[in-house]
Amino acid sequence: MLDADFFRRWMTITAASVDREAERLTALDSPIGDADHGSNLQRGFRAVRDTLEKEPPTTPGAVLVQAGRLLISTVGGASGPLYGTLLRRTGKALGEAVEVDERQLAEALRAGVDAVRQLGGAAPGDKTMIDALVPAVDALGDSFAAARDAAEEGAVATTPLLARKGRASYLGERSIGHQDPGATSSALLIAGLVAAAA
Ligand code: ADP
Ligand code: MG
Ligand code: MG
Repeated sequence: MLDADFFRRWMTITAASVDREAERLTALDSPIGDADHGSNLQRGFRAVRDTLEKEPPTTPGAVLVQAGRLLISTVGGASGPLYGTLLRRTGKALGEAVEVDERQLAEALRAGVDAVRQLGGAAPGDKTMIDALVPAVDALGDSFAAARDAAEEGAVATTPLLARKGRASYLGERSIGHQDPGATSSALLIAGLVAAAA
């Protein structure tokens, strides 16, 4: 079973990997964006980590709702509301349970990803975070490790795609040949599940 501690570890581990990879995320956002994705997420996940430390929520759902709110208020850009919605909606779907199992998490995360699709209007293949998140949720029924691998493969597979949403879409054909920064950070988020469970 997964308790509030697990979810706090997931967020703290994600904050650490975003810190570690911030330069790479910003570099990916340079040719097809405005070179701020790493710093945007770093600001957000640092706020998440600091607040979870100071005011630790006691249920899985509350951890994710708090994290989502903080991302919405601190990240800005396109990715702030999208990541915020992902975590907030996932947290709400978990309800008030003190512990949840892997299947409940998979279902809740699917609700979160659906909310991101609704908010941003992106479908699979549009070269966005959706291209890492959808395969991850599909694989989550098998294992966290399968979800991590699927997200990473999904992120890499955005390279040959033409961007149809977000800033990268302004470039049209010139968006082809670059890995999407948001899909790359989504793969970090999903990889955090494996580390949090270890
Ligand atoms: P901004 O583009 O406002 O500077 P970021 O650089 O932080 O925001 O985030 C860019 C990432 O957000 C993209 O790489 C993409 O994955 C994601 N993104 C942008 N628009 C959408 C959308 N409509 N739906 C899903 N994801 C999106
Ligand atoms: Mg950007
Ligand atoms: Mg920006």
